[in-house]
Amino acid sequence: MRFYERMKINIELYCPRCHDSNLVRNGKKYNGPQNYRCKNCGKQFISDNQRTYKGTLSSINAMILIMLVRGSGIRDISTILEISVKKVLKVLVKGIYKIQPQKKHYDCLEVDEFWTYVGSKGNKVWLIYAYHRETGEIVAYVWGKRDLKTAKKLRKRLKRLEITYDSIACDDWDSFLRAFGAEVKQRGKRHTVGIEGNNFRMRHRIRRAFRRTCCFSKKLKNHLKAFAMAFFYLNYGYL
Ligand SMILES: [Zn+2]
Repeated sequence: MRFYERMKINIELYCPRCHDSNLVRNGKKYNGPQNYRCKNCGKQFISDNQRTYKGTLSSINAMILIMLVRGSGIRDISTILEISVKKVLKVLVKGIYKIQPQKKHYDCLEVDEFWTYVGSKGNKVWLIYAYHRETGEIVAYVWGKRDLKTAKKLRKRLKRLEITYDSIACDDWDSFLRAFGAEVKQRGKRHTVGIEGNNFRMRHRIRRAFRRTCCFSKKLKNHLKAFAMAFFYLNYGYL
């Protein structure tokens, strides 16, 4: 028994469906915990503190997401929150993390590439993305090989989002220069310090983007999902 389980705490209960506090005891579940019934809407439930499996706690999904995006690995989360690895993965994979540009027009977008991998370094995948330095927003991103095709894909994505920009800043990588052509007005490493800083931030925050750790995903799909989630959180200010 842990020390905090011995403390006596009064917990106020609310109906999980309608949040009413007008509840009655309604027998016990076959495995022990007290069952409650809401007098307002009729919902029957057991309270969070009576649950033996923590994976069904009402607040668990939000907690998992925050831990994922703060650099905790799947297995760390499973151990700390006392829930199954499967549950953690489910929350990650089932989430929808679509980002939408927050402005119609940008002055300058920095574009850069970022690599990561699943399994061994032979399976490198490249993230090519556009970043707005002033707001710290990841405006658009694509995955692919480090080639002209992927650079062009990013430009296409930007056009499809129906946003406009005055200029593109990128390093001397040939594919960017060819894909964006005359739109590139700032060229060279000193114009991309914003996005380079963001790459650094990603390596810190996204456990899977760390180098030399055991926390790389086994599945590419889950790996890319973890990034999608991080971008969502970066853009909407939870980090
Ligand atoms: Zn109710």
